[in-house]
Amino acid sequence: MQFRDLKAQYLALKPEIDSAIQAVIDSSQFILGSPVAELEQKLAEYTARKHCITCASGTDALQLSLMAMDIGRGDIVFTSDFTYFASAAAASILGADVIPVDIDYDTFNISPQALDEAIHKTISNIRNVPPRIAIIPVDLFGLPADYTQILPIAKKYGAKVIEDGAQGFGGRIGQTSACSFGHISATSFFPAKPLGCYGDGGAVFVDDDSLAERIKSLRQLGKAPNDKYDNCEIGINSRLDTIQAAILLKKLKAFSEYELDDINRIAGLYDQKLIGSVKTPYIPEGFYSSRAQYTIKLENQAIRDRIMNSLSADGIPSMIYYPRGIHRQKAYEYKKLPDEWYPNTIRACSTVLSLPIHPYMSEESVDRIAAIIRNNV
Ligand SMILES: *Cc1c(COP(=O)(O)O)cnc(C)c1O
Repeated sequence: MQFRDLKAQYLALKPEIDSAIQAVIDSSQFILGSPVAELEQKLAEYTARKHCITCASGTDALQLSLMAMDIGRGDIVFTSDFTYFASAAAASILGADVIPVDIDYDTFNISPQALDEAIHKTISNIRNVPPRIAIIPVDLFGLPADYTQILPIAKKYGAKVIEDGAQGFGGRIGQTSACSFGHISATSFFPAKPLGCYGDGGAVFVDDDSLAERIKSLRQLGKAPNDKYDNCEIGINSRLDTIQAAILLKKLKAFSEYELDDINRIAGLYDQKLIGSVKTPYIPEGFYSSRAQYTIKLENQAIRDRIMNSLSADGIPSMIYYPRGIHRQKAYEYKKLPDEWYPNTIRACSTVLSLPIHPYMSEESVDRIAAIIRNNV
């Protein structure tokens, strides 16, 4: 069994995807060919953002977002402690001081209360020029972070909000789409993400016209708007290949027409078959998840080990997202961030288990997995 069956998805779309790839090769517009602009327009429409600017990865999308808002050395960036390393690394690359914040144990997303406390505590200790402050909430496992509470906190401190929607594309709060929260949003098209391409890719979403222009320039080394060989600032080289854009156009159609519904149907089957045995993913009222992961919580690490082993013995992969918090990463050891600040992350790291899920999964597979779990709790 596959954890996320990318091959099944390809086979379902094969004729369309093959001809889209061939069309790019025939046109030989490999960089910034017309499918790139077409995709950007479709993605902007999907999320109801004014602009979408594609780039080479989700990490680059975060980095471009921070660069466009002049966040770097001397500034402070708060992000979730329970996330993929890129959420923090993108800010560290630019020299900003990253402060991870504990999560809400139920949703796995940044705790608004812990965020408020962390910002308050941090700025109370600053004597000199106040730095720029940014918050990178993460839409973990497909569930949007609690922007209804985060945005007022950001406003109170004059902080910029950059949504890390790498796992969140397709999620919603009410009718508002993921990748439209905060000042700027970033997503990833890494193959296993909710909307994945066939290599690396990413995108930035923004409403502000001048930020959009600046990001377009920054993804081409800081190119001047009307002169290819004049550069107005130092950017990075980060574009989405035309072939990836052509693939994504086909995949976006399948994603919005049925894949997102189908993966939520699979999650619903898991919920039914597991409820009462383990803690199934918690989706708050009014929230919709794109189900980047289906992550259960076990009583303790011993039970988790037992379940993982039993699944594995039956050829079923399962993953621990994530085994340690950002504050425990070796790269941040020098910050000496105490475990006491992160009780919920630490608890999650020893209880979470992500199960196979994708839109093409059969009910029989869900049955098999659920039976093994029920027999081992
Ligand atoms: C995958 C991921 C990223 C980075 O995306 P890449 O395309 O791999 O660079 C950033 N943040 C989160 C939460 C992710 O899951």
